[in-house]
Amino acid sequence: MKNLSIRLKITLWFSAALIIIVSVAYVMALAVSNQIVQKTIRDNLIETVEDNVDEVEYFSSIDNVDLESDVDDFLSYGDGFLEIDDDFLDEVNQVYTSLYLYDGTFLYGENPIATSTSELDFSDSDVQRVTVGDTVYYVFDRMLTADGLEGLWLRGVVSEEQGGLQMTSISRTFLIIMPGVLIVAILGGYLVARRALRPISKISDSVKEIEQGGDLEKRIDIGNGNDELHRLADDFNRMFERLDKAFKAERQFTSDASHELRTPMTVIMAQCEMTLEKERTAEEYEDAIFLIQRQGRKMSKLINDMLDFTRLETKSDKYPMETVDFSELVTSVCGDMSLIRQHNIELTWEVEDNVKITGNYELLARLLANLIGNAYRYGNENGHTFVSLERKDGNILLSVKDDGIGIKEEDLDKIWTRFYQADSSHSGEGSGLGLSMVQGIAEFHGGRVLVESKIGSGSTFTCIFSDNSEKIKHKNTNKTLMEAGYN
Ligand code: ADP
Repeated sequence: MKNLSIRLKITLWFSAALIIIVSVAYVMALAVSNQIVQKTIRDNLIETVEDNVDEVEYFSSIDNVDLESDVDDFLSYGDGFLEIDDDFLDEVNQVYTSLYLYDGTFLYGENPIATSTSELDFSDSDVQRVTVGDTVYYVFDRMLTADGLEGLWLRGVVSEEQGGLQMTSISRTFLIIMPGVLIVAILGGYLVARRALRPISKISDSVKEIEQGGDLEKRIDIGNGNDELHRLADDFNRMFERLDKAFKAERQFTSDASHELRTPMTVIMAQCEMTLEKERTAEEYEDAIFLIQRQGRKMSKLINDMLDFTRLETKSDKYPMETVDFSELVTSVCGDMSLIRQHNIELTWEVEDNVKITGNYELLARLLANLIGNAYRYGNENGHTFVSLERKDGNILLSVKDDGIGIKEEDLDKIWTRFYQADSSHSGEGSGLGLSMVQGIAEFHGGRVLVESKIGSGSTFTCIFSDNSEKIKHKNTNKTLMEAGYN
């Protein structure tokens, strides 16, 4: 049974249920029909006997009778005689009627079980049952009450078997029609099940195809509809889409990462080969080692950034969440970075007091350092960068505003992509991972980052977090913002 297809299982169950229902219906129908037929036979018996009541008359003298016109039977009875009208039905439709004296003396008519009923008392209360051999007979007695007929009884007799013929015919009709109806119903059920379950085969085929071919761009197509199977197909398609995107992003990341790592690696290899070609002065060796160190640092930063990304994405517990004094953090990072003064850029800040956030200190510091680092890198000589932290409309806003080179409008969407660098003149200085990291960290804290920029005028990056300082006191600080429901 386990190995059968669902379609076949449904059909088998459905057929078994149908056969049981039809059999029960058959038995019930026969029982009900039998009762109806037997009642009809009894009613018919009573009716025939009652019809015969008026066909018996008593006459005291034969002079009163018109003997010319009648073909009736005459029996002498008491001081007169009985006239049995020619309409008296002694046998009609196997219902027999006979005339008896109260003491059981047979006078007229027909009774096929006369011997068996000779001892049976006359009773006009109800139909009696008499069994002769294997056959059951119904017997109905009717006392005659007309003048001169006192002491006479009419006895009607009919065999129960008469109904048997009708029952056989009902049963035969049922047995001829029902198998046909059953076959049509089962066949119809099988076809409906096959049609209803066809999308499952399609889904299974498509999944197999996708699995074998590894082509996640393929989709399951079972046409339009809104039943369970169409919803299942839609769910599968959405899953394939997500997997497709994730695999593509993964492939892209791996390819970009190898590409980024290959450049410093090639420089290191070339430098080593060139240096080892011949004897070098101590100064030349020192220069070579410095260059290798610089490239090594670049590779190390890249590898660390990539590792951090993985940790952020997998929500690694390397970054425990705690209550962070955001005001102190921003003041401290700005204080440290203002000393760098790259391009002689002045860094100033305005920080609202006592802003608290549930987060990871190390990550939030990295987010701010990345934004200030970019403001320096893409800033103009003697420029200015301004950092602010404030609470506004239930949010915490952290923004870094510079008056640097700005970003072209068409690049605004792309700068978040890993390894994307919009400005080729500065590309050697960064890795193209900074802003994706900023975005990743903001999302890790349930926040988001917006950018406004105008080429030649400068850029403003704003991080928006939920202000959960009130709730922080009561919440489990190991939870992420998103897990804590503050996004
Ligand atoms: P990178 O390591 O190249 O700085 P990022 O991801 O930090 O990588 O930034 C991506 C690109 O966005 C940069 O290459 C640069 O072109 C642009 N960008 C980022 N910040 C600024 C800024 N403050 N001003 C102008 N351009 C910026």
